[in-house]
Amino acid sequence: MDDLLLQPARLIQGRGSIEQLAEWAQPGEVLLIHSKSLNAIERLVQDWPLTSRPLTICAVSGEPELEQLEQHLGVWRNKAFASVIAVGGGSTVDYGKAVAALLNAKAPIADYLEVVGRGTPLDHDIVAFIAVPTTVGTGAEATKNAVIKVKDRGVKVSLRDPKMIPSCVILDANLCDDLPWHIIFSTGMDAITQLIESFLSCKATPQTDAICKAQIPIALESLFRLSLDRLLAPELERLQHAAYMSGVALANSGLGVVHGFASVIGGAYECAHGAICAQLLPAALQVNRQVMAQRQLSLQKFEQLDDMVQTAFGETGTVDQLLGRFVFTHLTNRLPNEVFSEPAANALVQGAMQSSSFKGNPISLAFDETLQVLITSRR
Ligand SMILES: [Zn+2]
Repeated sequence: MDDLLLQPARLIQGRGSIEQLAEWAQPGEVLLIHSKSLNAIERLVQDWPLTSRPLTICAVSGEPELEQLEQHLGVWRNKAFASVIAVGGGSTVDYGKAVAALLNAKAPIADYLEVVGRGTPLDHDIVAFIAVPTTVGTGAEATKNAVIKVKDRGVKVSLRDPKMIPSCVILDANLCDDLPWHIIFSTGMDAITQLIESFLSCKATPQTDAICKAQIPIALESLFRLSLDRLLAPELERLQHAAYMSGVALANSGLGVVHGFASVIGGAYECAHGAICAQLLPAALQVNRQVMAQRQLSLQKFEQLDDMVQTAFGETGTVDQLLGRFVFTHLTNRLPNEVFSEPAANALVQGAMQSSSFKGNPISLAFDETLQVLITSRR
């Protein structure tokens, strides 16, 4: 599989490119899902060619929840949508991705989910899906999974299938210009975590290595410069593209212990995904490196990361030290204290070790080593 790189068939990029959105939708009924707080939608709808592409519009907020998804699909299954479009942050893109994947599903939705269901592969045709991200970090526009919250079980699980990779992605940085710094920071740190975990992953390929080596310095540099001046438009564009590439990388290489924890912490507590990743990444780098040194494994990739961060930040130190300092200068919403209490921490470690992301970690961490990642992240 090493020569195969799963990625969206089309990438349209550039400021103002959202104006071409209708052209990329299939002729026929279009379902447009968007984040509730999005001004760009009004203009988009005004100019929409309603005759050739009749439009059904739905505003969503928060993360996709199984119950809401079932309700929506119950209504939308009766319409023959030719395309589904999602304009919004990672959760909205995931929502659209799940809807496009499940509109023609025959079995109950829960059957297709990992962990709580059977993870049944999608054996039906899925509807063409266009993703238009409005944040600069999740990379959801390039991945083959959608994260769904199952409220009554207190978990977030994935609906995952290679068919779910969006058929078309539009990256228009105009949609990101008004993002507040804390959103740029947390989504940007998500992209950086995804690139670094993909780079270190035991499932990394020559293709994903090439993507990560090119994009990690760009993402680090852009986020660092934006931390000094949030209005640097070209840096936002570079970060948006790096975030997209982080999605391409992770869809092909898997992730690691940080995302293992992020899925269970995000399911049990009200914490933003990017903020969880930001807090855990320096600790995960430190512990992984220590354990790999003890097992006398090559640390070459960690040394490459040291160089990349030193160049981007203009400081000396190791990747975990420099990222740790950067993160704790800017992270405003830290993990709640209860996460670190003994019973909660033990349960979170167990959950993280069972997650699909954990399988991508560069080495198989024991329970105590995994716990060490969580404890070290508390500063
Ligand atoms: Zn992530």
